[in-house]
Amino acid sequence: MAKYDPKSLLPEEFINDEEIRETLRYADENKHNVALIDEILEKARPVKKGSGCYCRGLTHREASVLLACDIPEKIERMYEIAEEIKLAFYGNRIVLFAPLYLSNYCVNGCVYCPYHLKNKHIARKKLTQEEVRQEVIALQDLGHKRLAIEAGEDPVNNPIEYILECIHTIYSVHHKNGDIRRVNVNIAATTVENYRKLHEAGIGTYILFQETYHKESYLKLHPTGPKHDYDYHTTAHDRAMQGGIDDVGLGVLFGLELYRYEFAGLLMHAEHLEAVYGVGPHTISVPRVKKADDIDPAAFDNSISDETFAKITACIRLAVPYTGIIISTRESEQTRSKLLRLGVSQVSGGSRTSVGGYAGYSPEERPHDTEQFDVSDQRSLDEVVRWLMEHGHIPSFCTACYREGRTGDRFMSLCKSGQILNCCHPNALMTLTEYLVDYASDETREIGYRLIEEELKRIPRDRTREIAAEHIEAIKNSNARDFRF
Ligand code: SF4
Ligand code: SF4
Repeated sequence: MAKYDPKSLLPEEFINDEEIRETLRYADENKHNVALIDEILEKARPVKKGSGCYCRGLTHREASVLLACDIPEKIERMYEIAEEIKLAFYGNRIVLFAPLYLSNYCVNGCVYCPYHLKNKHIARKKLTQEEVRQEVIALQDLGHKRLAIEAGEDPVNNPIEYILECIHTIYSVHHKNGDIRRVNVNIAATTVENYRKLHEAGIGTYILFQETYHKESYLKLHPTGPKHDYDYHTTAHDRAMQGGIDDVGLGVLFGLELYRYEFAGLLMHAEHLEAVYGVGPHTISVPRVKKADDIDPAAFDNSISDETFAKITACIRLAVPYTGIIISTRESEQTRSKLLRLGVSQVSGGSRTSVGGYAGYSPEERPHDTEQFDVSDQRSLDEVVRWLMEHGHIPSFCTACYREGRTGDRFMSLCKSGQILNCCHPNALMTLTEYLVDYASDETREIGYRLIEEELKRIPRDRTREIAAEHIEAIKNSNARDFRF
């Protein structure tokens, strides 16, 4: 039988089924062990160090005990600490991005996704380079600077050359003051050689969801196509790192398997990356199964309530304090509102989940023919930006780190020492100013300017504050853009 070893490159050893089951047994035995729970909560808290603070994070076993615990005051405490960590390391900033669907051709048979090969009535579409250009112009006109590109797996229709060409096109479009400054990539597991090509094309984070860590379920949920190969899929992030991509994103599709199993698997995956490459995942996404063309979420009997979803998010925040947490427009305004407090650092806004969903459509029009899933939060980017500010957050369009070479362990060491905050905060204010000047409605602009004025005062270093203020004035009074720390 395979033995658990986070340093191993074999998936059955670093995502070890026996270790997950043992973890769940341990969590059940200790879910009312108040002394242990208090000890774990204490370990998760940010600790003061010099002018900043640091966090120790939690192991998958410790975090699983918290997730199993159903004592209301302890859950409240988890939420408080998640918020403390969020404020200590991410402040009140929320980074915004949008998905861009390139193609929904797919040879896989994933039973929860309408793009599966056997769905013969969904319209299939693949963007031409001219259509990519039009989509990018539409996204720039909304105000986006950061995209996540998505494509089904299809070696004939969507080979790596097509993806690379699209990335090149995206970076080459500069419409008015617009710019896409960071392209994150969410495509199927591939070879080290292809990851190297993606790295050379200048991508930000490579994101691949595991969907489920439960191998038996995985094989049933992915009955056909290359994605059926659990081992190849589970080792994709390793190959991405070996290909030079040092920012990788993990995620599971909550609702497919028992959430406590997924949670332990997800954290073990993060521990594996840290153990082997010295740097954990850059982001973790927490999507839930949603309604789509021929998909009914009720067909999956492991769906989770909003309360459980909030608890999962808070426990991830406690366990991996330096990893960004992403939620998408799959979630409603109400759910997103609650999760933002608990440690989420990135959200999508004004999203379309169909191929060619942006160009040529008014904000109210929403093409459904090639949609991957129903978008619960259908507000425009301007509405999302305003709503974030009204709830005390700073919407940020910052992409500075990747462009300044602050990736992988360089990024993590700055993040762990708290120094990154000296960049994030002024960068958020400058990129928000760009958005307000170039794209916002009058109402949003007015709220934003007031917020920026207040937030500038909170930049602790005099020199940084002065430079940020000068840049903000330059953005307001000229076409000068793209200042960054
Ligand atoms: S989840 Fe991805 S791989 Fe699976 S059918 Fe959908 S697009 Fe294809
Ligand atoms: S400075 Fe870096 S970590 Fe901070 S918001 Fe910008 S890109 Fe993200």
